[in-house]
Amino acid sequence: MAAAKDGRKTPARKTAAEEQLPGINDARAAFAPALSPALERPRAMLRALSFRPPQLLHLEGGETADRVALALWWAAQLNCEDPEGMEPKASARGPCLSCPSCLRIGANMHPDLIFLDGREGSIKIDDVRGLRPVLGEKPHFGRWRVIIAAEAQSLGIEAANSLLKVLEDPCPDTCFVFTAPQRERLLPTLVSRGWVVTLPWPETGRPLSDDMRPWEQALGRFAAEGRGWFDLTTARSAMDAGKAQQIVLVGQKALADCLAGREGGMLAAVFRRMPPRARMLADEIFVESQDALQAQVNPLLVLDTMAARLHVLARGR
Ligand SMILES: [Zn+2]
Repeated sequence: MAAAKDGRKTPARKTAAEEQLPGINDARAAFAPALSPALERPRAMLRALSFRPPQLLHLEGGETADRVALALWWAAQLNCEDPEGMEPKASARGPCLSCPSCLRIGANMHPDLIFLDGREGSIKIDDVRGLRPVLGEKPHFGRWRVIIAAEAQSLGIEAANSLLKVLEDPCPDTCFVFTAPQRERLLPTLVSRGWVVTLPWPETGRPLSDDMRPWEQALGRFAAEGRGWFDLTTARSAMDAGKAQQIVLVGQKALADCLAGREGGMLAAVFRRMPPRARMLADEIFVESQDALQAQVNPLLVLDTMAARLHVLARGR
């Protein structure tokens, strides 16, 4: 944490909030993705929910940065100190994002905000256990204590179960927010306890990058015709897990294209010809592939298995 100002005079043009909060720029940057016009609908839903916040809120869809920023925006909405922000009619405009409470939330320096970060690495069971002593108490500073599990798909199974137990106990004035790419990537028992808000799926009108397009085409052709894929993978002696994750994501985007009625590429066309149940199974294949990569299974093996299973699915067996 940055050191407090040592009593020297700050320039007069700084606001009171800026004097108090060294992380003000971080805070503004943290909220920025949540303010995108594309997220107007989810923001409206969250504003409506804020009058009686659910104990557990899930944010799915969109990109990681959107989900995490919106989780922080929600925490700010629940604790904004702007007097107008507390009036039901005025909350139509959301949190002010400039009062000390909003800024502290954005900078992750608010005493009632607990941020479990699963964006890089998994959320550990000890992090979840650490919540318990805090949760029996009232929030110290704000109206609501907010616990964000960012990218909750990275909860280990033990940590997820422990969190489930936490949710079964009364937690006065506490809201949990989980972000995840898709609700299917969380324990069903966790999902069913919460309220799901879906962000617009990643804009696949945004074209695939040049290095990803051959993978999309190969996956689409292999799923449809059973050929062409292994030429691409056997040509490589190794692949890192990060690249393999991107390739699985290409498949997930194709499925999202199909579900959203967008044209997409060859693979989206394969999904369009499938019955709804097969599409659900395809989603599971992608989720299991991502899980296998996280569990450090050989990336080439994961990709070959994924392609083979998609082909079997597309043939309708
Ligand atoms: Zn505020």
